[in-house]
Amino acid sequence: MSEPLLEIERLNTYYGKSHILHDVSLTVGKGELVALLGLNGAGKTTTMRSVLGLTRPRSGQVRFEGSSITGWPPYRVAHLGVGYVPEGRRMFKDLTVLENLQIAETARKGDWTIERVFERLPKLRELRLRKSGRLSGGEQEMLAIARALVANPTMMLVDEPSQGLAPLIVEEVYKILEEMKAQGVSILLVEQNALLALKVADRAYVMDEGRIVYSGVASELERDRDMIRTLMGLQEVAS
Ligand code: ATP
Repeated sequence: MSEPLLEIERLNTYYGKSHILHDVSLTVGKGELVALLGLNGAGKTTTMRSVLGLTRPRSGQVRFEGSSITGWPPYRVAHLGVGYVPEGRRMFKDLTVLENLQIAETARKGDWTIERVFERLPKLRELRLRKSGRLSGGEQEMLAIARALVANPTMMLVDEPSQGLAPLIVEEVYKILEEMKAQGVSILLVEQNALLALKVADRAYVMDEGRIVYSGVASELERDRDMIRTLMGLQEVAS
């Protein structure tokens, strides 16, 4: 693994009295793409929320570039260059595509301007005046990624980008994630579709009931067909 960028150490997070994360530890190195896999309800989104300051962990440490950011509010984490593409895309539905991007553009300067995003994703330029609530699922996912990009992140947390999308659109979304990685952006990727994520990931962690139960090199996990079957909800997977 390269030099660590994000380090999560023995994190415990609760929703009210429910103890959700149990001593969760994981690391994402600089320039790495790390998959976080697991069945529904395993605690993947809660792990991301705990990093982003959306849910405060009760104990444990989150470090970014070597400094503790545990319990920081979301705006401070975002200013460090941590972007978020949430599950279900969550955008201002009454705002146009362009307005959503203008709101997301921050003082962090970098290569990704709205113009550059439109060059890479010309469909979004065509749709720039459309209210985002009226976009298709695939277009919304592109906008959610574009919105994270215009903040020029060092790291992105991407939650279930393939959810509900047609295969061709999923391919396009994954192509963009790989391009971002090639540009040096570190990515923590949560996916239900384990095989899809393992194709692009360097390393992977598997969660079950709020605990990390496996960590290793993505290509090795990809060969572990029993684990993959479990992760994919016991669907048939060709061996
Ligand atoms: P999914 O793919 O379904 O989002 P996940 O692995 O991301 O799964 P989480 O969303 O982190 O799982 O949920 C972990 C556990 O926490 C689940 O049992 C879920 O029911 C519970 N949970 C999630 N959000 C809340 C909340 N706001 N209040 C109470 N419990 C919650």
